[in-house]
Amino acid sequence: MPLPSFQVHLETNEPITPNTRKLVFRLDDPKTITYKPGQFVSFMLGTEDDRPIKRSYSIANMETNGENTTYIEFVISYVDGGKASELFFNAEPGMEMEMTGPFGLLCLTDELPDRVFLVGTGTGVAPYRSMIEQIKSRTDTEFHILFGAQFLKDMFYLDDFKAVALLDHVHFHPCLSREEKPGCVAGYVQNKLKELEPNPETDMAYLCGNPNMVDEVFEMLKEKEFGVKQVKREKYVFSRF
Ligand SMILES: Cc1cc2nc3c(=O)[nH]c(=O)nc-3n(C[C@H](O)[C@H](O)[C@H](O)COP(=O)(O)OP(=O)(O)OC[C@H]3O[C@@H](n4cnc5c(N)ncnc54)[C@H](O)[C@@H]3O)c2cc1C
Repeated sequence: MPLPSFQVHLETNEPITPNTRKLVFRLDDPKTITYKPGQFVSFMLGTEDDRPIKRSYSIANMETNGENTTYIEFVISYVDGGKASELFFNAEPGMEMEMTGPFGLLCLTDELPDRVFLVGTGTGVAPYRSMIEQIKSRTDTEFHILFGAQFLKDMFYLDDFKAVALLDHVHFHPCLSREEKPGCVAGYVQNKLKELEPNPETDMAYLCGNPNMVDEVFEMLKEKEFGVKQVKREKYVFSRF
């Protein structure tokens, strides 16, 4: 079956950290897309030696449920010499592209345990931003959002995470590995998570972003006897082409 495909054009492209840009694409044909918060889309960047060049990006839109959305927002961090990085960092509004999706299972389940950890490094927090409206209404669960970066200047969407963390059932832990700043945890997300004493009897974890972080945290949770279904993972693995 052919993948669901969308014609889109770039509406805005702005820097949000020294190394990250936020891009908003408007849907042209079809005019809307329905997705589940936490999912990603893929962009077709043409072909090389007859092989399709495809890159995936998490949907970062902040909406209630993702139904009939007319735009897609995503955040991309720059990779030196990367094909998509070069394209998207230099793209002008109006650029037309083909997008496929939505894909992925990093979505909040109907049944949630007492505590949910949403762990992301860098742009790996994008799916959690798209879950914010859902998180607000899931008041029976305590959410801990752990955002890892090297420096405070590398973080984004902070106002959105801080705003949702004003709710009693939501906690936001910005973790900085290379500097100390008031209001932030000094160290890796892994260390903060350990401090929160994850327990398979009461908790579930979502991990997204850097593949090393995802593997490391997954191993730690397995040692604590978390089952595979209690840990949802999305690794930002590089494409081979
Ligand atoms: C499901 C999924 C969701 C994703 N969501 C996002 C997202 O929301 N935001 C985002 O920024 N990225 C995301 N990614 C990663 C993204 O798809 C690209 O891999 C990334 O943008 C690099 O693509 P590129 O074409 O610029 O680099 P490439 O042309 O693929 O790579 C250029 C060179 O850099 C190396 N390289 C590639 N990426 C890295 C890296 N991160 N660190 C070090 N070396 C690297 C490659 O091995 C290669 O040598 C996601 C990936 C997946 C699988």
